[in-house]
Amino acid sequence: MTSLSSALTETRAVLRQADRAWSKHGCPSTAECCQLQTTGRPPWLWPSEWALVVKKVNGVLPPARADGGCPFLDPSGKRCTVYEDRPLGCRTFFCHRITGPAAVPAEATNGLFDRLRALNVALDDEAQVRSLPDWHRAEAERAKTR
Ligand code: SF4
Repeated sequence: MTSLSSALTETRAVLRQADRAWSKHGCPSTAECCQLQTTGRPPWLWPSEWALVVKKVNGVLPPARADGGCPFLDPSGKRCTVYEDRPLGCRTFFCHRITGPAAVPAEATNGLFDRLRALNVALDDEAQVRSLPDWHRAEAERAKTR
């Protein structure tokens, strides 16, 4: 049976593999893609990805941002505060500012997504992806009832 701890370890391994798969690509790091309300394209996370983000902030979630940006942006709105543990979707250079080869590692990325699905479903067969703002809202609600 998969434990949460081994799921987190494997999730980190998947994320490192994503970095390797996308190592030829980059972007000017404007953090425009982190303005989730503006882009309407939030990252979608499996539970183990969300657990890594929550662990990174020691369980203390930042509040929602007034500008609709990802709550994990720093106050300047330019830097990710959970960068090392950011989810798969944040590592895939999906916006028009992508630099690097025209061919993107879509197949490898799909394979990594499937690995995340498999390890999460092994933990909980009802595991589902949720958007980052949905995870954040749900966690904030849960914190209120504690
Ligand atoms: S987790 Fe980090 S990289 Fe991903 S949307 Fe939020 S601030 Fe941006």
